[in-house]
Amino acid sequence: MKKLIFATGNENKMKEIRMILADCGYEILSMKQAGIDVDVVEDGSTFEENAIIKATEISKFAPDCVVLADDSGLEVDYLNKEPGIYSARYEGVDTPYSIKNQIIIDRLAGVPDEKRTARFVCAIAAAFPDGRVETRRGTIEGIIAHEPAGENGFGYDPIFYLPERKMTTAQLSPEDKNDISHRGNALRMIKEVL
Ligand code: IMP
Repeated sequence: MKKLIFATGNENKMKEIRMILADCGYEILSMKQAGIDVDVVEDGSTFEENAIIKATEISKFAPDCVVLADDSGLEVDYLNKEPGIYSARYEGVDTPYSIKNQIIIDRLAGVPDEKRTARFVCAIAAAFPDGRVETRRGTIEGIIAHEPAGENGFGYDPIFYLPERKMTTAQLSPEDKNDISHRGNALRMIKEVL
């Protein structure tokens, strides 16, 4: 069976990826399973550039495999799309998300709901053995909540409110989040080019 490596060290992402790509005809390997241990510097200026940098760098270590890599983050329209590609590094990599989330809420103090629009973005790049590279972008639209809510998910989930569901993405079950998330959407799109 042909092999596909997903360039992440995040086990939660791997679970989601295995579920969505289950029937795509590839054996799915994590970096660890592929025996690859490299830190790629993500110095691109867009989600797509960072995903391409990761996928192509890792594919140098596994030239016979298809390598997928993702880059994701939160864009808040009122904050000129911050934190964007700097989502993980926003206010410091080691700063707890309870603090990062409160900072975003405070920066939006007094801003009405119609101006609190935001989205999670996920770009996935696929690097093929013949040198071809494809990217796909998935998004999910929401608004920044007035206070954090929910225990599921990670990162900015407690402040990402879905008006039509009347809850944050941290209040969704993992299955429901996969069905509608930026990463789920990008994975379903990239599956079509595999
Ligand atoms: P990366 O793509 O793993 O580098 O993720 C970048 C950062 O974006 C994460 O550390 C989170 O801060 C944020 N992020 C990406 N996806 C999500 C999500 O589904 N929920 C909450 N935060 C997210």
